[in-house]
Amino acid sequence: MPSRPTIPIIDERSRLPGASPVDPGHDLADRRGRVLRDLRVSVTDRCNFRCIYCMPKGVFGKDYPFLKRQELLSFDEITRLARIFSEHGVRKIRITGGEPLLRRGVEHLVAALARLGGLELTLTTNGVLLPRMAERLRDAGLDRITVSLDALDDATFRRMNDVDFPVADVLAGIAAAERAGFRQVKVNMVVKRGVNDHAVVDLARHFRGSGHIVRFIEYMDVGSSNGWRMDEVLPSREVIDRISAEFPLEPAESNYAGEVAERWRYADGDGEIGVISSVTQAFCASCTRLRLSTEGKLYTCLFAQHGHDLRGLLRGGADDGRLRAAIAAVWQQREDRYSEIRTAATAAARKIEMSYIGG
Ligand code: SAM
Ligand code: SF4
Ligand code: SF4
Repeated sequence: MPSRPTIPIIDERSRLPGASPVDPGHDLADRRGRVLRDLRVSVTDRCNFRCIYCMPKGVFGKDYPFLKRQELLSFDEITRLARIFSEHGVRKIRITGGEPLLRRGVEHLVAALARLGGLELTLTTNGVLLPRMAERLRDAGLDRITVSLDALDDATFRRMNDVDFPVADVLAGIAAAERAGFRQVKVNMVVKRGVNDHAVVDLARHFRGSGHIVRFIEYMDVGSSNGWRMDEVLPSREVIDRISAEFPLEPAESNYAGEVAERWRYADGDGEIGVISSVTQAFCASCTRLRLSTEGKLYTCLFAQHGHDLRGLLRGGADDGRLRAAIAAVWQQREDRYSEIRTAATAAARKIEMSYIGG
């Protein structure tokens, strides 16, 4: 069988005097023909929650080696990279973490990204800091917001976040987002069988008719700390069946190619929900996402075991052409399809934590 050609890290054109290393503005395809469109940026690896499926206390205790300030990418560094990513076809940037609202002045990053133009800007948060941040984020140019909420009863919610935050704090955050002008908030619920799956219909009922969209996410084997087991995953099919038994649902068209959530609308016209079936119906074939970690490493998959260091290039004085070429090479060599090939063995393998890589 002929061997696959190796794609050079630096585009050959960068070696020609006076030539631009990579033509800006061109779409980039990976080895599976997937075009780069989305970038998730983790702005902090810290969080005020200790969700049992993401940052369990046993691992993320007081001795956990969180990154130091000088290790984090600065807002200027992120903005510079974002401009280059947009030249490579990125259209949407999601700011995430850890808890992104813990990064001081995150609204200034939003404003700087908004000034680049042509990017859809979104942010995912646990919501409790939104009452004081929502308006600033909106004014800075944030287009959309996603708030995570795993139950509507305090006992279950506290069991999930493991730091005693009540549901009311998150609902207050969603209300603040509404007041600030975020009309359609997406509400993410991670469903863990036997822990919060009884809350699926509660959440659907609560947000039905509100204009907000609840998205039920299958519990995933991200990182190496949550002790994931397949029998704790509630398949999206069951989520649909349970909600449909009370409020009949019918499938809805995707908003765009590659949309992660599968849309379902209430048959009576009272809104819609989404399901994200990363475990039972892998969507790697249409995955157009790159992730930039808190300290500036680029990951081509949520389940990647290593990243590509951009901070070293940035701080070593690389010009835009060099950065463009490095990013292009990472994407063009990408082959990831973890969710299609997940087994018990891969689930147990060492992987990067979601709070660092950016959820
Ligand atoms: N702290 C913010 C939050 O919770 O919304 C943003 C970061 S968090 C890592 C991003 C999203 O990843 C959240 O909606 C969270 O529920 C989800 N998530 C974290 N761990 C997960 C897991 N093991 N399986 C599925 N989703 C997970
Ligand atoms: Fe924090 Fe979000 Fe992870 Fe929960 S899911 S521990 S809120 S980063
Ligand atoms: Fe994309 Fe990796 Fe998730 Fe597949 S497993 S959808 S390649 S992030």
